[in-house]
Amino acid sequence: MAGSHVVVGLAAWTWVAPHLGLPVLDPRALGFATLGALLPDIDHPSSWVGRRLPVISRPLAAMIGHRGVTHSLIAVVTCVVFLRWEGMRRAMIDPLVVGYLSHLAADLLTTSGLRLTWPSSKRQAIGLCRTGSFAETMIVASVAVGAGFHLLQADRAFGL
Ligand SMILES: [Zn+2]
Repeated sequence: MAGSHVVVGLAAWTWVAPHLGLPVLDPRALGFATLGALLPDIDHPSSWVGRRLPVISRPLAAMIGHRGVTHSLIAVVTCVVFLRWEGMRRAMIDPLVVGYLSHLAADLLTTSGLRLTWPSSKRQAIGLCRTGSFAETMIVASVAVGAGFHLLQADRAFGL
């Protein structure tokens, strides 16, 4: 669910950013974290990003399927290498990667899991909840509350 991924992506950024020495509440960083949190589902034509880019989502879904290459560690490494090669600054790449990894971690919690080691067909799943379930809502709400508390602590520790 796009909303869940955005919340988890932003929460992940609030946890990681102070440790990277990057501003937590920078609107551009928050935008890149949000983008990173949504991008992996470009392999699903019905997803938020997939509906906006059907020219990419439809072939990906048809050829590889959902939670395949875009949900793999290869995708993360390839994105980082490509973006660095393109000269994108760390202040943009880091939140994008944190958001992206938060998406993979969130999907890992579901019963469907994902293929982190794509092209291997082996799926990894922790199986705490089903996508769209009440349990997912509770986990996302817990993550949001935890991020809020962390922001308050980070405010004291890092002077945000
Ligand atoms: Zn996903």
